Amino acid sequence: MHILVIGGAGYIGSHVVKALLDDGMQVSVFDNMSTGQEINLFDKAKFIKGDILDIHALEKVMSSGVDAVVHLAAKKSVAESIKYPEIYSTNNITGTLNILNAMAKFGVKNFVFSSSAAVYGMPEYTPLDELHPTNPINYYGYTKLAIEQFLPWYESLKGIKFVALRYFNAVGYDATLAVKGLEKNPQNLLPIVMEVATGARKSMSIFGNDYDTVDGTCVRDYIHVTDLASAHLKSLKYLAQGRDSQILNLGVGRGISVLEMVQALEKVIGKKLNYDFAPRRAGDPGFLIASSERAESLFGWKAMHSDLENIIRTTWNVYQAQ
Ligand code: UDP
Repeated sequence: MHILVIGGAGYIGSHVVKALLDDGMQVSVFDNMSTGQEINLFDKAKFIKGDILDIHALEKVMSSGVDAVVHLAAKKSVAESIKYPEIYSTNNITGTLNILNAMAKFGVKNFVFSSSAAVYGMPEYTPLDELHPTNPINYYGYTKLAIEQFLPWYESLKGIKFVALRYFNAVGYDATLAVKGLEKNPQNLLPIVMEVATGARKSMSIFGNDYDTVDGTCVRDYIHVTDLASAHLKSLKYLAQGRDSQILNLGVGRGISVLEMVQALEKVIGKKLNYDFAPRRAGDPGFLIASSERAESLFGWKAMHSDLENIIRTTWNVYQAQ
């Protein structure tokens, strides 16, 4: 199979590319390199520098004999999405519609979409399953939900089958150090903790220590990126069998608190990290974990690399190496 990975030079995308190459698939990467990094490209995958707002570039690549598309090229900062919603409308919604239109034009029928747990908003119950109501509380989450709502229309009108993967908190790095790119200006917890550990950042704040959780700090479902990558591979194989479109959660079903994450790294590096407690961050639920039973029963996917020690070790290995 020839798979086009849009956003394949990014953090999750490059891990997906590695999983597909390891499985023997032919892979092309399409990325505008706005946050993607050259260091994340693989020699075995053809690279096309291009933007999803460039319809001509998308049509050119779509006409080159692509069997399926994995789309991970999106803006992903919650705070930025609230400040500059127009950027998120253009990149995440218009850009994705451009991809779907180009696929429709050249008869590419299988689509794996990076969605997010942000489509749910505040949890009404946990673990969250795919039937939980979707009420995003930030614009980023809304852009993901909007695309999920377009997908059944493109399926019924244009015959494009899809798997939308709702990621919970993506963390970790490939254990063989095949992916080396560090996220620049990270907004997420683990890379921030790593930067404090390397000294790239002096200190960090833990947002809230008065939640109703094990130690008062927020609990999340952290899933190793190698497990996310394997779910993309399984989704592609599933779609290749001509089976029904799906929306699937990807999480572990296990919670880790912010403090537990910080302390786990302190243990590995043998020194204390510099942090303080700050007020709660607006819109942060205290406890968020996934039920991924649907992915498990559908195609036997299970998180295999997501124990806390492996998450910390694989991430620290990459940060330390640089
Ligand atoms: N967090 C924190 N300090 C930081 C960044 C994140 O305490 O500098 C907390 C945040 O409040 C949340 C958890 O870490 O409870 C995970 O946040 P992240 O932004 O990585 O992912 P989210 O769950 O918001 O998608």
